[in-house]
Amino acid sequence: MRAFVTGGAGFVGSNLVDQLLGRGDEVCVLDDLSTGRIENIRHHLGEPGFRFINDSILNASVVQSLVEECDVVFHLAAAVGVRYIVEDPLRAISANVAGTETVLRAAFRSWKKVIIASSSEVYGKSTKAPLSEEDDRVLGSTAVTRWSYSSSKAIDEHFAYAYAGRGLPVVILRFFNVYGPRIHANGYGTVVARFIQQSLAQKPLTVHGDGRQGRCFCYIEDTVRGIILAAQAKEAEGQVFNIGSDAEIRISDLALLIKQLTGSSSEILLVPYEDYYGLRFEDTMRRVPDLTKAQLCLGYLPQVGLEDGLRRTIDWCQRHNFVESRAPRVAVGAGGS
Ligand code: UDP
Repeated sequence: MRAFVTGGAGFVGSNLVDQLLGRGDEVCVLDDLSTGRIENIRHHLGEPGFRFINDSILNASVVQSLVEECDVVFHLAAAVGVRYIVEDPLRAISANVAGTETVLRAAFRSWKKVIIASSSEVYGKSTKAPLSEEDDRVLGSTAVTRWSYSSSKAIDEHFAYAYAGRGLPVVILRFFNVYGPRIHANGYGTVVARFIQQSLAQKPLTVHGDGRQGRCFCYIEDTVRGIILAAQAKEAEGQVFNIGSDAEIRISDLALLIKQLTGSSSEILLVPYEDYYGLRFEDTMRRVPDLTKAQLCLGYLPQVGLEDGLRRTIDWCQRHNFVESRAPRVAVGAGGS
């Protein structure tokens, strides 16, 4: 197929690009490199079947022409990372909402299939476990900036459903805590990236709150497989799917595991949320996906266990001299969350 990947220089996007090219697909990437990185796709530059356009998804005419040339759109460009959304909600909201609208409108004009990257953040602070696609969203006050991310992704989903209602082949994927090679300490995959970085630097691992909040971490290879399965399954069109792993771990246990796997002598510190996110932050205490629908309809099941995935990620971080760089501003281009 001819694939058009928005945010294709980001963490999830660039890993998807590797897989698509490896299968023999043609790939065109649109990324403004605001949080995506050229290093993630440099190895493909000049390759036959690969094209990179350095521009924004908010540029409607560029998006339209690239959509016209492809068979499938993978819309992964988004403002990502809870901390950065909290820091610059205005940019995050407009990037997510206006960007997705631009892509969907272009796809509708050219009648192309679109895979929309959404997020488990859509469920908000619901503690129901596991969370299935039809479950209620539970959000706090609009005065808590964090929930703007959840709301912007939910608007994206509503847009997608609205276009699906007019017959456009659209699939929505809610990613749950993706990690793996190319995670960025300041971007998506925050907690895994930060703990690895802190461990390797022999600095304290900063666990927020009491560390009892749970997450299910999904290795990037599994996430990418879910994306490709969704693009292939005709019966997935017009539907939303959880894509992740359902193996839950407390954040304090994740810190211990990463400390152990890196052989670090770092201490583990409990720090108040406010120290990292600022005032009026609310966390979500559990986030476990129900994968039944993805398994039945897409044949999706995660395959890489947490310890194995973390070893591979730590190995990548060590080989790439993983050091903290200056925090990027919230921007379009890194891929879903
Ligand atoms: N977290 C933490 N220490 C950090 C960064 C994050 O304890 O240095 C916590 C964060 O408060 C949250 C969990 O790890 O409870 C997952 O955070 P992340 O930003 O990775 O993903 P999300 O909140 O979107 O699940």
